[in-house]
Amino acid sequence: MEVNLENILKKIEDFFQYQSELNVPIYLPEKFLEIINQQIKLNTQFIDSFLSKISEPFVGAKSLSELDSLINKCVKCSLGNLRKNFVFGVGNPNADIVFVGEAPGADEDEQGEPFVGKAGKLLTETLSTLGFRRDEVYICNILKCRPPNNRDPLPAEVEKCEPYLLKQLSLIKPKIIVALGRIAGNTLLKKNETLSNLRKNIFNYYDIPFFVTFHPAAILRNPNWKRDFEKDLEIMKEFYLSLAEKKKVL
Ligand code: SF4
Repeated sequence: MEVNLENILKKIEDFFQYQSELNVPIYLPEKFLEIINQQIKLNTQFIDSFLSKISEPFVGAKSLSELDSLINKCVKCSLGNLRKNFVFGVGNPNADIVFVGEAPGADEDEQGEPFVGKAGKLLTETLSTLGFRRDEVYICNILKCRPPNNRDPLPAEVEKCEPYLLKQLSLIKPKIIVALGRIAGNTLLKKNETLSNLRKNIFNYYDIPFFVTFHPAAILRNPNWKRDFEKDLEIMKEFYLSLAEKKKVL
């Protein structure tokens, strides 16, 4: 089998599944980590190659704040004229983990910050129970402006807005992306899967390992899913810590 990130992630996903069925502590074999680290060192080359085909000023931004200032008046799609606030993203500009939702909701549109309100509080608390501070990670959405009545993003809106997310990722250079919710996962992966299928896999988004879990708002609607949400993030954390530990000895 060819050695690339896709194949490695498939093997890891099978391994996680196997360990979870045996109910033993999750760990990653050394060999996987070594190969993943080698792959991840180049993790923005595919994004940069995509962006190099776009001739717009935002592509040249050297920092997140510069990028924000170059795109926050955007009206490339109709949502630009409906927003109260542009919702760029918040968090550590060098984060190893980036959480991505589909689009701002009413609270986010009001405050200009992603994942605020009750859903944002739940995300912050869940991260805290895993030992992550909200300002250690980066949190953003695919769309930067709120769709009316929180409808799903339209393909034409995603096409116009996803390059901004890619530029954010190119500047942050995360080791892991976590999509929050089925819509965010399917939209970025260009799939049409159920959330349970998406949660079973580790995907590859422009050569960055990509996990999908619940949107925190879904947990508020159905608290029975909270343990599964936490479990998904625990697996993501194990994956991340394994990479971080391996990195020290490389
Ligand atoms: S949603 Fe994205 S593409 Fe549409 S106006 Fe807002 S920033 Fe521009």
